[in-house]
Amino acid sequence: MIPRRRIPLEAADLRDWLRAPFVADAEARRQIGAFEAAFAAMVGVRHARAVASGRDALGLILDGLDLTPGDALVVPAYTLGELLPLLQRRGLRLVPADVDPATMNVTPASVRACLDARTRAILAVHLLGAPCDAPALAALAAEAGAVLIEDCAHAPGARIGGRAVGSFGVAALFSLEASKAVAAFGGGVLATDDERLADYVATRLAARARREWPAMKKTLMRWMEELLVRSPLYGPLARVLFSDRVAAAFERAYRGGNDRARPAAVGFSALQARMATRRLARLEARNARCNALWSDTAARLPARFRPQHRDAIGAPAFYNLVARFDGDLRQLRRAALARGLDLGIFGEVMDDTAAMLGAASCPGAARAHAEAVLLPLYDGLDERRRLRMLRILGELAAGPA
Ligand SMILES: *Cc1c(COP(=O)(O)O)cnc(C)c1O
Repeated sequence: MIPRRRIPLEAADLRDWLRAPFVADAEARRQIGAFEAAFAAMVGVRHARAVASGRDALGLILDGLDLTPGDALVVPAYTLGELLPLLQRRGLRLVPADVDPATMNVTPASVRACLDARTRAILAVHLLGAPCDAPALAALAAEAGAVLIEDCAHAPGARIGGRAVGSFGVAALFSLEASKAVAAFGGGVLATDDERLADYVATRLAARARREWPAMKKTLMRWMEELLVRSPLYGPLARVLFSDRVAAAFERAYRGGNDRARPAAVGFSALQARMATRRLARLEARNARCNALWSDTAARLPARFRPQHRDAIGAPAFYNLVARFDGDLRQLRRAALARGLDLGIFGEVMDDTAAMLGAASCPGAARAHAEAVLLPLYDGLDERRRLRMLRILGELAAGPA
């Protein structure tokens, strides 16, 4: 079975995990501070603060900007649906901006159509590593008396005109989840040049206690999961878990379990700082290597798979290879699974937030949502498996699905 994702397993992480309970407080603070400084330098902003998750960073940004109930926030119509409750809890009026189904990103025109007198902020995501037009969106926000917040969860290291994403808006959020580029098995980063926001965030974070155990526990859970995925048990198990009958329930249980393992407001740990620092140092090399792999793979896909356009605005970071398939996705996935290729369940790409919000339909997002499929391509995918994946996709595209 070729799994759809891979979580990094590294001896250095294990070493840090074993040492984590014994790190003195001053040393932990130094390591966390060093990570934050390195991250700020990568983004090119003055302040980067390590927090509990990408969601936590977004919550802190919204609180720090003093958004109040009734304020309007423009959100991408195609992004992670799990962000919505966080925004709705604050009483914000969410206005979904449609995406271009080719790039899967919002455009200045689609965002402009969403602005009104109560628009206070625009949340824009650089989806799947592809930069959206952040400079134009920042200008649009300024014109409307609003601010731009960049969701860089998929895109650390992506650049527009040589400048890193995350430096164009008032603030940006990054995720350090196991599935993201700078994996610390959880955690996030808030990046900003805004002194007032930085002060506000510093005050909130000062009230949090650093604890190592939540991060240690979560890391351990993810390692177990990954060992299972790499074992011979995974093939038969995946066929059961991802079958049509079980998939939806499994997906719900899995997401629920992940949510419970998500520490809401626990201080960032030294263990996370060390794991993230190591991956941050390799980020540029990883993006270069994986982007080349992405381009080569995308160019070899059968014509029925249309890969995301990633370089319309700037230089992408590597996240995932997502293509739109013209055909029945359920059938495609079932046939792929039977051939030993895990193309996922259905919830793993992004969500149609316009539909989730019950807003007027956004046709670009609806189309992306209906057609997108995640193809297994990740750091560490060996060449033999990559070619086998392409061969299977070729067979599937030739079939009736
Ligand atoms: C992963 C992700 C986030 C937030 O990440 P967490 O660290 O899981 O809270 C935000 N936006 C998008 C688009 C994401 O994929």
